[in-house]
Formats: sequence, structure tokens, C-alpha cells
Amino acid sequence: MVATSCPQFSGLRRSSPIFHNARSQSFLQHINSQLRLSSSRKPCRSVVAMAGSGKFFVGGNWKCNGTIDSITKLVSDLNSAKFENDVDVVVSPPFVYLDMVSSSLTDRIEVSAQNSWIGKGGAFTGEISVEQLKDIGCKWVILGHSERRHIIGEDDQFIGKKAAYALNEGLGVIACIDVVPSWDNIVIAYEPVWAIGTGKVASKTRIIYGGSVNGSNCAELAKQADIDGFLVGGASLKGPEFATIVNSVTSKKVAA
Ligand code: PEP
Repeated sequence: MVATSCPQFSGLRRSSPIFHNARSQSFLQHINSQLRLSSSRKPCRSVVAMAGSGKFFVGGNWKCNGTIDSITKLVSDLNSAKFENDVDVVVSPPFVYLDMVSSSLTDRIEVSAQNSWIGKGGAFTGEISVEQLKDIGCKWVILGHSERRHIIGEDDQFIGKKAAYALNEGLGVIACIDVVPSWDNIVIAYEPVWAIGTGKVASKTRIIYGGSVNGSNCAELAKQADIDGFLVGGASLKGPEFATIVNSVTSKKVAA
């Protein structure tokens, strides 16, 4: 949905105006104060948008962390956790553990890769194709994460190609936007070519917040009208804390 016919991935928009009015300024100030209160780490904000069903969405990005032992424990904790019904839950293990996690995790939780190749597999040493991900039951892929951009050097065009290919092949894409020095003057424009001048509109795009979300600040953050869920890094490595974040959807329902 996002970039099937637009390989240059440059931005996304949802119908409610989130980043360009007084309310959005207070929203960002609110997030900043929440993060300062609950974390001594410097917050690294990212905003993520994707196509979906409109449900609350919580993704856990395990990054390059874990061993067979620690991941077995994490999967066991997640399998025994109680999750609210009306939230999509996705975890993203490192590639080498993807198959193991996918086959041992309850069906309640879907798995995501942390990267995928721009096209069909072949002579691309070290890469993983979308077809291979689908083959092991992977439903999602995180693309454009700031760590891929800053450390590996991926750019918008490359990420756009990956997103277009993954979406065309039926994977869900958790598309990350970063490198914005200040959000004050940003309006995120998601303009799919199929919607421009056609009378069709996108109503199901979710915008999730990522950056130092944890068990202490998730309830306050979830209440914000323009947050449809979270992408969680460090706190997703602890099963019970991740479950608390998933279940913060209840705060959203109370606030609604
Ligand atoms: C991330 O890197 O996508 C992320 C949200 O990390 P953390 O939650 O650890 O800030």
C-alpha cells in the first residue's frame, strides 16, 4: 500500500493533522517530558507509519540482541503473557533466530524481519529475500530503521525499493522515518499515487511512535490521539514489560 508504485520512499501522511498545529506541538512536548521523566537515556525519536487495519499496533524490535538461551526465555515469557485482544503484536528477532521464534511463538504474535532485500534472491551475499522470509512464516519487515540508515548507510531510494518489493510480495512493512532535527515544522505527507485524483482515500494507515517507550511511560503515550501504537527497542527484550506496553491499549480505550 505505501510504496508499491513509488520506489522513492519519502514520507507518509494520515488523514488527521498530527504534526502541524498547536495540539501537535503539545503532543511532542508531552512525549519529550514523558521520556525525560522515565528514562535517563537520550531519547531517539522515530515516527513510523504503515498500512494496516487501524488496530493498536505494538512491535518489538530485538535488534542484534539475544542468544538461543535468552530468546527461548523471552519466547516462553511472551507465550505465557496475557495480551488484550484489540492490538496487533509483532516481534522482530535477529535473522538467525527468526525461524526458531516463528515456530515456537504463539499464533497470537506475528514475526517481523529487521531487513529484506530489494528484489528476488540470488547472488547477493549476506542478504535475505522476501521470499525466504515468507517461507518461514514471517509476516512483516522493518525497513528504514535509523540504525540501518546511519550505521549501514541505507538511503531513501534503497529503502523505497525494499518497501515496494516487500509490499508487492505481500509482506507488511514497518516503515521508519528519522533524521528530522525538529518536528515543529513537519507535516508528514503520505500520498499514494493510487489515491491522487482518483477519489479513493487511505483511512487505515497507522502511525506508531518509537523511541524509549517502556512500561512506565506507555500508558501516558498510548492516550495520545495520534499514537496508534509503538515500535519498542530495549523494553521489548523483557517479556513482562513488553506485555505491559502491548496492554497499554487499555489506556487508549479509557481516554477515547
Ligand atoms: C528503536 O530503535 O526503534 C527503538 C524504538 O529503540 P528504543 O525503544 O530502545 O528507544
